[in-house]
Amino acid sequence: STTAAVEPYPSNATDVSQSFHNDTQEHRANATFVFLARNSDINGVVASVQSMEDRFNRKYKYPWVFLNDEPFTEEFKRRVSILTDAPISFGLIPPEHWHQPEWIDEDRARMGRQRMMIKGIIYGGSVPYRNMCRFNSGFFFKHELLQPYRYYWRVEPSVKFFCDLNYDPFLYMEEHDKVYSFTISLEEHEPTVPTLWDSVKEFIDQYPQFIEPQNSMDFLSNDGGKKYNLCHYWSNFEIADMDFWRGEAYTKFFEFLEEKGGWYYERWGDAPVHSIAASLFARRDQIHFFRDIGYRHENFQHCPSGDQWSEGRCACDSQDSFDYTDHSCLKRFESLF
Ligand code: GDP
Ligand code: MN
Repeated sequence: STTAAVEPYPSNATDVSQSFHNDTQEHRANATFVFLARNSDINGVVASVQSMEDRFNRKYKYPWVFLNDEPFTEEFKRRVSILTDAPISFGLIPPEHWHQPEWIDEDRARMGRQRMMIKGIIYGGSVPYRNMCRFNSGFFFKHELLQPYRYYWRVEPSVKFFCDLNYDPFLYMEEHDKVYSFTISLEEHEPTVPTLWDSVKEFIDQYPQFIEPQNSMDFLSNDGGKKYNLCHYWSNFEIADMDFWRGEAYTKFFEFLEEKGGWYYERWGDAPVHSIAASLFARRDQIHFFRDIGYRHENFQHCPSGDQWSEGRCACDSQDSFDYTDHSCLKRFESLF
């Protein structure tokens, strides 16, 4: 079944490990872009890939991995492949990594969706959105096409990269021992995670050995861990280390949360789950704010300022940046140091 999960296109660009090692640049990271998308997302996908290629990857040629719960159409593959010379592969997600598990109590899940719809929470009634959040939380890094790689950069449809990137952020991660990075951090909608923090506290009690002494609990909580302040890193942008997700602490954490069923009974996002894990299982200095990467995903953006803005030829207004606005958690992150 693993071979069936891979849809190579074009056939000469499928051996990603080989094209990676062929490269003549002195040092590259073992890294790839990861792009989860539906066929219907194609126009937004093209815009995002173009933006990334123009501002960064044209020079670096890191591979692209596209994933979908349905087979990509030939048209999708054709329109993406024309945009870059970098290796591209298109993968199918195994159904057990995507769909609501059998053991979830559907009546309880339905009630959860209704409660959230009544509250007007975005995607509150959607099952596919929940599948996506669970997949991004616990499964993408297990996909066959991602096995060769350690670092990934997550890209979504219709995002913008505003500035030239004149260095390799993957290498930056590697050389500075970073495991997770972000450009925007903000507060989660409380009704999507009403019991998440109780589960986290239970996990901490049960597995104290996984809590990093130099953690950043103070990013997540204003009272030393009693209550979750809803701060998280916005995961539609992530450059991170998949070995961290594949490691023992996160594996146990995901399994523990999975048993609670919160991806379906509530609407746990991969952003708070990743952020909580990175904050508790990594040292605070292993989390990086890419201040110099200009980035927009509706409805927020981070635009660099000063020399970083001019050197990056950033196509954004420095005054229009989420950084120190009311619902940003950047101040809290910076106060850790
Ligand atoms: P938002 O950013 O929270 O508003 O959610 P998006 O609609 O952007 O979804 C997040 C990511 O998951 C995007 O890359 C989407 O293309 C992808 N995605 C969301 N739902 C599905 C789905 O049902 N199937 C697939 N294949 N991808 C999805
Ligand atoms: Mn999105």
